[in-house]
Amino acid sequence: MSVDINSLVRKNVLKLKPYSSARDDFKGDASVFLDANENPYPSPYNRYPDPHQIKLKEEIAKIKGVKIDQIFLGNGSDEPIDLLIRAFCEPGTDNVLIPQPTYGMYTVSADINAIEIKTVSLTSDFDIDLSGVEKTWNDKTKLLFLCSPNNPSGNLLSKSKIESLLMRFQGLVIVDEAYIDFTDYDGFLPLLNQYKNLIVLQTLSKAWGLAGIRLGMCFSNKEVINILNKIKPPYNISILTQQVAMESIKNGELKNKWVQEIKSERERLKNELIKIKRVEKVYPSDANFLLTKVSNAKAIYDSLVAKGIITRDRSNVILCDNCLRITVGTKAENNVLLNELKDA
Ligand code: PMP
Repeated sequence: MSVDINSLVRKNVLKLKPYSSARDDFKGDASVFLDANENPYPSPYNRYPDPHQIKLKEEIAKIKGVKIDQIFLGNGSDEPIDLLIRAFCEPGTDNVLIPQPTYGMYTVSADINAIEIKTVSLTSDFDIDLSGVEKTWNDKTKLLFLCSPNNPSGNLLSKSKIESLLMRFQGLVIVDEAYIDFTDYDGFLPLLNQYKNLIVLQTLSKAWGLAGIRLGMCFSNKEVINILNKIKPPYNISILTQQVAMESIKNGELKNKWVQEIKSERERLKNELIKIKRVEKVYPSDANFLLTKVSNAKAIYDSLVAKGIITRDRSNVILCDNCLRITVGTKAENNVLLNELKDA
């Protein structure tokens, strides 16, 4: 679908004159900086960070095969989720479409921003119900949130169904690929230049082992990225985060090693879990967790907590009756879990 991005943006955002930071007004090198009311005494962090994170984006562009102006960086992917809603959805008028069950922050961010949420159930195998989705959107639906691999189910959504939605939806399709590194597939980034209404979210919080530094990546065409840059807080990514992210990204081998280990543990954990009497089903997973249907989720969850083992009870979530979401841990951690489940 050839969408006109400007026609989707909220009018106030389109008109907005963004805040211009000291580092925007003067970008070059100088010996005396007296423009940002910083403390002049030396500490590694007395200066504000680069508001556009150019060096970090250069590294990300290299590993992701995209251009710098196709990248927006946020304080976790939770920040672009919120900013996308704020940029494109007019409270009281527009709506977002969120197939369920999925990651909870799309709903929370929409609710915070007073944006109507339209929902439709995924199919029983957690894939997209194409006709259900198309029946649910209307001309006020600005954003469609798809999560692939999906949280909490763990499966990849069908690529051809996502493409069919990209072709037919008049708004923006957000494909949240927080768990993409745990799949054998390169996701939607290679299609970024093909679909103007495609937004891909990724994060350093999962495979990269950097949930604590808060760095989310949003990829799209440069018009969408410019809009997000316009409304973001000026210095949203700290110097510390930019430095740690740069170092990690330059050395991706450790991440690859972790991913290999997590994927092989995912297989082993799955095979062991299904042997346990109280486990009824382990859903196929392309992520670093296993949605596991058990005989009595609450009782099992509580008995694991009593042993100091914390899983996530997803029983209250649609299609996830009596399901625990179990993150794949180290081999030793997974063994502790398996032993407890066998004994209890
Ligand atoms: N998307 C999905 C699908 C997630 O599961 C999560 C975290 N659980 C996030 C985004 C948030 O990631 P971040 O840490 O980058 O904010």
